[in-house]
Amino acid sequence: MSPRIAHLDHSFVRFIPDDLQDGVLYVSMEYKTVAHRCCCGCGEKVVTPISPAGWELTFDGRAISLSPSIGGGTCNSHYFIRRGRVQWARPLTKAEAGSALLHDQAVADRLYGGAPRRNRWWNRLWARVARPSDRPQ
Ligand SMILES: [Zn+2]
Repeated sequence: MSPRIAHLDHSFVRFIPDDLQDGVLYVSMEYKTVAHRCCCGCGEKVVTPISPAGWELTFDGRAISLSPSIGGGTCNSHYFIRRGRVQWARPLTKAEAGSALLHDQAVADRLYGGAPRRNRWWNRLWARVARPSDRPQ
């Protein structure tokens, strides 16, 4: 367990690496995906698809903003990423966290197709962005 992260650097990558460092936003434009480790320090990987139905990424030449907020993980963190700064918001209520998760799941299902539900969608996404070798050319 590390302390809360207040600032995120960014790293433009083609593939999201397996091991994420705290305090870094990994941005794959090619796969329209951003990943980072949860800023509360719990270490959970947070994967945010960039799409009209997912998250919007803004890069001002210096730092990255993501919209909407990040929330609904198992640690129940809730924060905004604005120009590389982490702005903490009040924790989501149980109902909000549930609907955020459902929303994420629905977005992911639309984007990445319907694999079995027991496979959490970000694991599927993970397999997709983190394994270059058997990707169709
Ligand atoms: Zn967390």
